[in-house]
Amino acid sequence: RAEKSPRSFGEKVQTAVRLRPFLNLELAKIAQWERRSEHSSYSCVEMKPDGHVTLHDPEKPNQPGRDFECTFAFDSSQPQSSQYADQSTIFEGVGADMVMHGTTGYNCCLVAYGQTGTGKTHTVHGDWQSHEHRGLLPRIAEGLFARLGKLAEGDTWRVRISYVEVYKDRLRDLLSGTRMEYESSPRSTKGALGGKGLEVRAHPEIGVFVENLQELPVESFRDVARHVARGERAKKIESTTMNNRSSRSHTIFSFKVEVRGTGHNSLSTMQVVDLAGRENEQTSECKDERFRELRFINRSLFELANCISALCDGNREHVPFRNSKLTMLLSDSLSSNSRTTLLATLTPSPTGFDENMLTCRFLESAG
Ligand code: ADP
Ligand code: MG
Repeated sequence: RAEKSPRSFGEKVQTAVRLRPFLNLELAKIAQWERRSEHSSYSCVEMKPDGHVTLHDPEKPNQPGRDFECTFAFDSSQPQSSQYADQSTIFEGVGADMVMHGTTGYNCCLVAYGQTGTGKTHTVHGDWQSHEHRGLLPRIAEGLFARLGKLAEGDTWRVRISYVEVYKDRLRDLLSGTRMEYESSPRSTKGALGGKGLEVRAHPEIGVFVENLQELPVESFRDVARHVARGERAKKIESTTMNNRSSRSHTIFSFKVEVRGTGHNSLSTMQVVDLAGRENEQTSECKDERFRELRFINRSLFELANCISALCDGNREHVPFRNSKLTMLLSDSLSSNSRTTLLATLTPSPTGFDENMLTCRFLESAG
Protein backbone atom coordinates (compact mmCIF):
# COMPACT_ATOMS: atom_id res chain seq x y z
CA ARG A 1 0.00 0.00 0.00
CA ALA A 2 1.75 3.07 -1.19
CA GLU A 3 0.71 6.59 -0.60
CA LYS A 4 -0.80 8.12 -3.68
CA SER A 5 -0.05 11.61 -4.75
CA PRO A 6 -2.78 13.92 -5.97
CA ARG A 7 -3.31 13.84 -9.68
CA SER A 8 -5.31 15.73 -12.17
CA PHE A 9 -8.20 14.27 -14.04
CA GLY A 10 -9.21 14.32 -17.65
CA GLU A 11 -12.03 16.48 -18.75
CA LYS A 12 -14.19 13.61 -19.84
CA VAL A 13 -14.55 11.73 -16.60
CA GLN A 14 -15.54 13.59 -13.52
CA THR A 15 -15.07 11.74 -10.27
CA ALA A 16 -16.83 12.43 -7.03
CA VAL A 17 -17.14 10.82 -3.64
CA ARG A 18 -20.00 10.62 -1.22
CA LEU A 19 -19.56 9.49 2.35
CA ARG A 20 -22.71 8.38 4.09
CA PRO A 21 -23.28 9.04 7.78
CA PHE A 22 -23.16 6.24 10.33
CA LEU A 23 -26.33 4.19 10.56
CA ASN A 24 -27.86 3.64 13.99
CA LEU A 25 -26.73 0.05 14.04
CA GLU A 26 -23.15 1.11 13.42
CA LEU A 27 -23.32 3.77 16.10
CA ALA A 28 -24.39 1.15 18.60
CA LYS A 29 -21.41 -1.01 17.67
CA ILE A 30 -19.02 1.87 18.01
CA ALA A 31 -20.40 2.66 21.45
CA GLN A 32 -19.55 -0.91 22.42
CA TRP A 33 -16.02 -0.64 21.12
CA GLU A 34 -15.51 2.62 22.89
CA ARG A 35 -16.53 1.09 26.17
CA ARG A 36 -13.96 -1.65 25.70
CA SER A 37 -11.00 0.40 24.66
CA GLU A 38 -9.46 3.82 24.95
CA HIS A 39 -10.05 4.81 21.36
CA SER A 40 -12.46 7.63 21.09
CA SER A 41 -12.58 8.19 17.40
CA TYR A 42 -13.33 5.64 14.76
CA SER A 43 -13.78 7.98 11.89
CA CYS A 44 -11.89 6.33 9.09
CA VAL A 45 -12.81 8.53 6.16
CA GLU A 46 -11.95 12.18 6.08
CA MET A 47 -13.42 14.32 3.35
CA LYS A 48 -11.19 17.28 2.64
CA PRO A 49 -12.67 20.41 1.11
CA ASP A 50 -10.13 20.39 -1.71
CA GLY A 51 -11.46 17.09 -2.99
CA HIS A 52 -9.08 14.78 -1.22
CA VAL A 53 -10.29 11.79 0.64
CA THR A 54 -8.20 10.33 3.38
CA LEU A 55 -8.75 6.78 4.50
CA HIS A 56 -7.42 5.94 7.96
CA ASP A 57 -6.69 2.40 8.96
CA PRO A 58 -8.88 1.78 12.02
CA GLU A 59 -6.60 -0.98 13.23
CA LYS A 60 -3.86 1.49 13.96
CA PRO A 61 -5.71 4.54 15.19
CA ASN A 62 -3.21 5.43 17.90
CA GLN A 63 -0.01 5.19 15.95
CA PRO A 64 0.53 8.44 14.17
CA GLY A 65 3.07 8.06 11.44
CA ARG A 66 2.37 4.40 11.19
CA ASP A 67 -1.20 4.97 10.30
CA PHE A 68 -1.96 3.83 6.91
CA GLU A 69 -3.16 6.89 5.19
CA CYS A 70 -4.01 7.14 1.59
CA THR A 71 -5.04 10.32 -0.11
CA PHE A 72 -6.98 10.36 -3.29
CA ALA A 73 -7.63 13.38 -5.39
CA PHE A 74 -11.10 13.65 -6.75
CA ASP A 75 -12.77 16.37 -8.68
CA SER A 76 -15.43 17.09 -6.17
CA SER A 77 -16.03 16.26 -2.60
CA GLN A 78 -18.26 17.63 0.06
CA PRO A 79 -18.22 21.26 1.07
CA GLN A 80 -16.22 22.14 4.12
CA SER A 81 -19.21 22.51 6.35
CA SER A 82 -19.85 18.81 6.66
CA GLN A 83 -18.37 15.39 6.06
CA TYR A 84 -21.74 14.26 4.88
CA ALA A 85 -23.37 15.89 1.91
CA ASP A 86 -27.14 16.03 1.67
CA GLN A 87 -29.14 15.19 -1.44
CA SER A 88 -29.34 18.72 -2.76
CA THR A 89 -25.58 19.21 -2.43
CA ILE A 90 -24.98 16.06 -4.41
CA PHE A 91 -27.36 17.22 -7.12
CA GLU A 92 -25.69 20.61 -7.33
CA GLY A 93 -22.31 18.91 -7.54
CA VAL A 94 -22.97 16.28 -10.17
CA GLY A 95 -26.58 16.42 -11.40
CA ALA A 96 -27.27 20.02 -12.34
CA ASP A 97 -24.67 19.94 -15.10
CA MET A 98 -26.25 16.85 -16.56
CA VAL A 99 -29.57 18.60 -16.83
CA MET A 100 -27.95 21.49 -18.63
CA HIS A 101 -26.09 19.31 -21.12
CA GLY A 102 -29.06 17.01 -21.55
CA THR A 103 -30.99 19.72 -23.31
CA THR A 104 -28.16 20.81 -25.56
CA GLY A 105 -27.25 17.65 -27.41
CA TYR A 106 -24.65 16.13 -25.10
CA ASN A 107 -24.82 12.60 -23.82
CA CYS A 108 -24.28 12.28 -20.10
CA CYS A 109 -23.75 9.33 -17.88
CA LEU A 110 -23.58 9.15 -14.11
CA VAL A 111 -22.42 5.93 -12.52
CA ALA A 112 -22.80 5.21 -8.81
CA TYR A 113 -20.14 2.82 -7.62
CA GLY A 114 -19.47 1.34 -4.20
CA GLN A 115 -19.83 -1.55 -1.83
CA THR A 116 -23.34 -2.73 -1.00
CA GLY A 117 -24.80 -0.64 1.81
CA THR A 118 -22.78 2.50 1.15
CA GLY A 119 -25.64 4.53 -0.32
CA LYS A 120 -25.75 4.07 -4.09
CA THR A 121 -29.50 3.60 -4.26
CA HIS A 122 -30.02 6.32 -1.68
CA THR A 123 -27.98 8.64 -3.88
CA VAL A 124 -29.64 7.66 -7.16
CA HIS A 125 -33.25 7.42 -5.96
CA GLY A 126 -33.53 8.57 -2.37
CA ASP A 127 -37.13 9.15 -1.42
CA TRP A 128 -39.11 10.24 -4.48
CA GLN A 129 -41.96 11.41 -2.27
CA SER A 130 -39.92 13.82 -0.23
CA HIS A 131 -38.61 17.13 -1.51
CA GLU A 132 -35.70 17.10 0.88
CA HIS A 133 -34.70 13.46 0.49
CA ARG A 134 -35.11 13.09 -3.23
CA GLY A 135 -32.07 11.59 -4.88
CA LEU A 136 -30.41 12.36 -8.17
CA LEU A 137 -32.94 10.82 -10.55
CA PRO A 138 -35.97 12.70 -9.27
CA ARG A 139 -33.96 15.91 -9.12
CA ILE A 140 -32.72 15.42 -12.66
CA ALA A 141 -36.27 14.75 -13.86
CA GLU A 142 -37.51 17.84 -12.06
CA GLY A 143 -34.69 20.00 -13.38
CA LEU A 144 -35.13 18.70 -16.89
CA PHE A 145 -38.81 19.58 -17.19
CA ALA A 146 -38.19 22.96 -15.56
CA ARG A 147 -35.56 23.66 -18.21
CA LEU A 148 -37.65 22.40 -21.08
CA GLY A 149 -40.48 24.62 -19.87
CA LYS A 150 -38.26 27.64 -20.41
CA LEU A 151 -37.34 26.91 -24.03
CA ALA A 152 -37.93 29.62 -26.57
CA GLU A 153 -41.40 29.91 -27.99
CA GLY A 154 -41.86 27.63 -30.96
CA ASP A 155 -39.30 25.12 -29.77
CA THR A 156 -40.67 21.68 -29.17
CA TRP A 157 -39.37 18.81 -27.10
CA ARG A 158 -39.94 15.14 -26.51
CA VAL A 159 -38.68 13.04 -23.60
CA ARG A 160 -38.69 9.27 -23.42
CA ILE A 161 -37.50 7.14 -20.54
CA SER A 162 -36.34 3.57 -20.21
CA TYR A 163 -35.27 1.54 -17.22
CA VAL A 164 -33.22 -1.62 -17.59
CA GLU A 165 -31.89 -4.10 -15.10
CA VAL A 166 -28.75 -6.10 -15.86
CA TYR A 167 -28.58 -9.28 -13.86
CA LYS A 168 -25.94 -11.89 -14.64
CA ASP A 169 -25.39 -10.22 -17.99
CA ARG A 170 -29.05 -10.57 -18.88
CA LEU A 171 -31.39 -7.69 -19.44
CA ARG A 172 -34.80 -7.00 -18.12
CA ASP A 173 -37.11 -4.14 -18.90
CA LEU A 174 -38.31 -2.64 -15.63
CA LEU A 175 -40.94 -0.53 -17.37
CA SER A 176 -42.48 -3.23 -19.51
CA GLY A 177 -45.06 -4.16 -16.90
CA THR A 178 -44.45 -7.84 -17.43
CA ARG A 179 -42.64 -9.82 -14.83
CA MET A 180 -39.75 -11.87 -15.91
CA GLU A 181 -38.69 -14.87 -13.91
CA TYR A 182 -35.09 -15.77 -13.68
CA GLU A 183 -34.27 -19.37 -13.13
CA SER A 184 -31.32 -20.26 -11.05
CA SER A 185 -30.54 -23.40 -13.00
CA PRO A 186 -27.12 -23.60 -14.62
CA ARG A 187 -28.73 -23.71 -18.05
CA SER A 188 -30.25 -20.30 -17.68
CA THR A 189 -27.22 -18.17 -18.38
CA LYS A 190 -28.35 -17.06 -21.81
CA GLY A 191 -31.34 -14.83 -22.37
CA ALA A 192 -34.04 -13.90 -19.91
CA LEU A 193 -36.59 -16.56 -19.20
CA GLY A 194 -40.32 -16.42 -18.83
CA GLY A 195 -40.70 -13.42 -21.09
CA LYS A 196 -39.36 -11.73 -24.14
CA GLY A 197 -35.59 -11.75 -24.03
CA LEU A 198 -33.93 -8.41 -24.53
CA GLU A 199 -30.87 -8.21 -26.67
CA VAL A 200 -28.46 -5.34 -27.15
CA ARG A 201 -27.80 -4.60 -30.79
CA ALA A 202 -25.50 -2.22 -32.54
CA HIS A 203 -26.75 -0.33 -35.57
CA PRO A 204 -24.41 1.65 -37.82
CA GLU A 205 -26.68 4.68 -37.82
CA ILE A 206 -28.67 4.70 -34.61
CA GLY A 207 -25.89 3.24 -32.48
CA VAL A 208 -26.43 0.79 -29.67
CA PHE A 209 -30.01 -0.05 -28.80
CA VAL A 210 -31.97 -2.68 -26.94
CA GLU A 211 -34.44 -4.58 -29.03
CA ASN A 212 -38.01 -4.56 -27.69
CA LEU A 213 -37.16 -2.14 -24.90
CA GLN A 214 -39.98 0.14 -23.78
CA GLU A 215 -39.20 3.80 -24.25
CA LEU A 216 -42.06 5.60 -22.61
CA PRO A 217 -42.96 9.17 -23.49
CA VAL A 218 -43.13 11.42 -20.42
CA GLU A 219 -44.17 15.01 -20.02
CA SER A 220 -43.73 15.77 -16.36
CA PHE A 221 -41.98 14.82 -13.17
CA ARG A 222 -45.12 12.99 -12.09
CA ASP A 223 -45.08 10.82 -15.22
CA VAL A 224 -41.53 9.76 -14.48
CA ALA A 225 -42.23 9.16 -10.78
CA ARG A 226 -45.22 6.99 -11.62
CA HIS A 227 -43.28 4.78 -14.04
CA VAL A 228 -40.34 4.45 -11.68
CA ALA A 229 -42.63 3.46 -8.82
CA ARG A 230 -44.06 0.67 -10.97
CA GLY A 231 -40.59 -0.54 -11.92
CA GLU A 232 -39.46 -0.48 -8.31
CA ARG A 233 -42.49 -2.47 -7.21
CA ALA A 234 -41.69 -5.21 -9.71
CA LYS A 235 -38.12 -5.24 -8.48
CA LYS A 236 -39.14 -5.42 -4.84
CA ILE A 237 -41.41 -8.41 -5.27
CA GLU A 238 -38.50 -10.35 -6.62
CA SER A 239 -36.08 -9.02 -4.04
CA THR A 240 -37.97 -10.75 -1.31
CA THR A 241 -38.12 -14.05 -3.14
CA MET A 242 -34.57 -13.84 -4.35
CA ASN A 243 -32.73 -12.63 -1.30
CA ASN A 244 -32.41 -8.96 -2.11
CA ARG A 245 -31.38 -9.42 -5.69
CA SER A 246 -31.59 -5.72 -6.42
CA SER A 247 -28.25 -5.02 -4.80
CA ARG A 248 -26.74 -7.64 -7.09
CA SER A 249 -27.99 -6.24 -10.34
CA HIS A 250 -27.11 -3.09 -12.20
CA THR A 251 -29.88 -0.73 -13.17
CA ILE A 252 -29.68 1.83 -15.92
CA PHE A 253 -32.19 4.62 -16.15
CA SER A 254 -32.18 6.64 -19.37
CA PHE A 255 -33.73 9.86 -20.49
CA LYS A 256 -33.75 10.55 -24.22
CA VAL A 257 -34.32 14.21 -24.80
CA GLU A 258 -35.11 15.65 -28.19
CA VAL A 259 -35.34 19.38 -28.73
CA ARG A 260 -36.46 20.91 -32.03
CA GLY A 261 -36.30 24.55 -32.83
CA THR A 262 -35.50 26.84 -35.71
CA GLY A 263 -31.93 26.15 -36.67
CA HIS A 264 -31.19 23.84 -33.80
CA ASN A 265 -32.19 20.27 -33.25
CA SER A 266 -30.64 18.16 -30.59
CA LEU A 267 -30.89 14.67 -29.19
CA SER A 268 -29.29 13.85 -25.85
CA THR A 269 -29.20 10.73 -23.76
CA MET A 270 -28.79 10.97 -20.02
CA GLN A 271 -28.12 7.77 -18.16
CA VAL A 272 -27.99 7.17 -14.44
CA VAL A 273 -26.54 3.86 -13.34
CA ASP A 274 -26.95 2.19 -9.98
CA LEU A 275 -24.28 -0.48 -10.03
CA ALA A 276 -24.37 -3.78 -8.21
CA GLY A 277 -22.12 -3.80 -5.18
CA ARG A 278 -18.73 -5.30 -5.70
CA GLU A 279 -17.60 -8.05 -3.38
CA ASN A 280 -14.39 -9.86 -2.90
CA GLU A 281 -14.49 -13.28 -4.55
CA GLN A 282 -11.82 -14.65 -2.25
CA THR A 283 -13.18 -13.53 1.08
CA SER A 284 -16.84 -13.80 0.29
CA GLU A 285 -18.35 -16.94 1.74
CA CYS A 286 -21.03 -17.39 -0.84
CA LYS A 287 -21.33 -20.55 -2.82
CA ASP A 288 -22.72 -21.85 -6.07
CA GLU A 289 -25.39 -19.57 -7.51
CA ARG A 290 -24.40 -16.66 -5.34
CA PHE A 291 -20.81 -17.08 -6.32
CA ARG A 292 -21.72 -17.18 -9.99
CA GLU A 293 -23.62 -13.92 -9.53
CA LEU A 294 -20.56 -12.41 -7.99
CA ARG A 295 -18.42 -13.42 -10.92
CA PHE A 296 -20.85 -11.68 -13.28
CA ILE A 297 -20.83 -8.55 -11.16
CA ASN A 298 -17.08 -8.36 -10.79
CA ARG A 299 -16.54 -9.19 -14.43
CA SER A 300 -18.85 -6.42 -15.62
CA LEU A 301 -17.32 -3.89 -13.22
CA PHE A 302 -13.91 -4.89 -14.50
CA GLU A 303 -15.06 -4.34 -18.09
CA LEU A 304 -16.51 -0.99 -17.12
CA ALA A 305 -13.21 0.06 -15.57
CA ASN A 306 -11.40 -1.04 -18.73
CA CYS A 307 -13.66 1.00 -20.96
CA ILE A 308 -13.39 4.09 -18.81
CA SER A 309 -9.63 3.93 -18.63
CA ALA A 310 -9.39 3.39 -22.40
CA LEU A 311 -11.52 6.51 -22.81
CA CYS A 312 -9.32 8.42 -20.41
CA ASP A 313 -6.24 7.42 -22.37
CA GLY A 314 -7.81 9.04 -25.38
CA ASN A 315 -8.02 5.68 -27.06
CA ARG A 316 -11.50 6.26 -28.39
CA GLU A 317 -11.22 3.92 -31.34
CA HIS A 318 -10.52 0.81 -29.33
CA VAL A 319 -12.74 0.92 -26.29
CA PRO A 320 -13.80 -2.66 -25.45
CA PHE A 321 -17.50 -1.89 -25.02
CA ARG A 322 -18.57 -5.21 -26.48
CA ASN A 323 -17.12 -7.25 -23.64
CA SER A 324 -20.22 -6.94 -21.46
CA LYS A 325 -23.87 -5.95 -21.71
CA LEU A 326 -23.36 -3.21 -19.15
CA THR A 327 -20.65 -1.50 -21.15
CA MET A 328 -22.54 -1.96 -24.42
CA LEU A 329 -25.55 -0.24 -22.90
CA LEU A 330 -23.42 2.65 -21.73
CA SER A 331 -21.30 2.94 -24.85
CA ASP A 332 -23.18 5.87 -26.37
CA SER A 333 -23.18 7.96 -23.28
CA LEU A 334 -19.58 7.10 -22.48
CA SER A 335 -18.09 7.70 -25.88
CA SER A 336 -18.98 10.34 -28.42
CA ASN A 337 -19.89 13.82 -27.40
CA SER A 338 -20.36 12.87 -23.84
CA ARG A 339 -19.71 13.62 -20.20
CA THR A 340 -19.21 10.90 -17.66
CA THR A 341 -19.36 11.17 -13.90
CA LEU A 342 -18.28 8.42 -11.58
CA LEU A 343 -19.66 8.82 -8.12
CA ALA A 344 -18.17 6.58 -5.47
CA THR A 345 -20.00 5.93 -2.23
CA LEU A 346 -18.06 5.23 0.94
CA THR A 347 -18.97 3.92 4.36
CA PRO A 348 -17.69 5.67 7.51
CA SER A 349 -17.62 2.33 9.30
CA PRO A 350 -14.20 1.10 10.42
CA THR A 351 -15.06 -2.37 9.15
CA GLY A 352 -15.40 -0.94 5.66
CA PHE A 353 -11.81 0.21 5.35
CA ASP A 354 -10.69 -2.39 2.81
CA GLU A 355 -13.78 -1.94 0.67
CA ASN A 356 -13.43 1.83 0.75
CA MET A 357 -9.87 1.35 -0.37
CA LEU A 358 -10.92 -0.73 -3.37
CA THR A 359 -13.61 1.77 -4.26
CA CYS A 360 -11.15 4.65 -4.22
CA ARG A 361 -8.67 2.64 -6.28
CA PHE A 362 -11.34 1.97 -8.88
CA LEU A 363 -12.15 5.64 -9.06
CA GLU A 364 -8.53 6.51 -9.35
CA SER A 365 -7.94 4.03 -12.16
CA ALA A 366 -10.91 5.46 -14.00
CA GLY A 367 -9.65 9.00 -13.63
P1 ADP B 1 -26.49 0.58 -1.63
O1 ADP B 1 -27.48 0.89 -2.68
O2 ADP B 1 -25.12 1.12 -1.94
O3 ADP B 1 -26.43 -0.88 -1.30
P2 ADP B 1 -28.32 1.97 0.08
O4 ADP B 1 -28.55 3.18 -0.74
O5 ADP B 1 -29.36 0.93 0.05
O6 ADP B 1 -26.91 1.31 -0.29
O7 ADP B 1 -28.03 2.46 1.58
C1 ADP B 1 -27.91 1.57 2.66
C2 ADP B 1 -28.59 2.19 3.88
O8 ADP B 1 -27.95 3.39 4.27
C3 ADP B 1 -30.02 2.55 3.62
O9 ADP B 1 -30.76 2.28 4.78
C4 ADP B 1 -29.99 4.03 3.37
O10 ADP B 1 -31.20 4.68 3.70
C5 ADP B 1 -28.85 4.49 4.25
N1 ADP B 1 -28.12 5.63 3.66
C6 ADP B 1 -27.31 5.59 2.60
N2 ADP B 1 -26.78 6.79 2.31
C7 ADP B 1 -27.28 7.64 3.23
C8 ADP B 1 -27.12 9.05 3.47
N3 ADP B 1 -26.32 9.82 2.72
N4 ADP B 1 -27.81 9.58 4.50
C9 ADP B 1 -28.60 8.82 5.28
N5 ADP B 1 -28.79 7.49 5.11
C10 ADP B 1 -28.15 6.89 4.10
MG1 MG C 1 -28.61 -0.46 -3.81
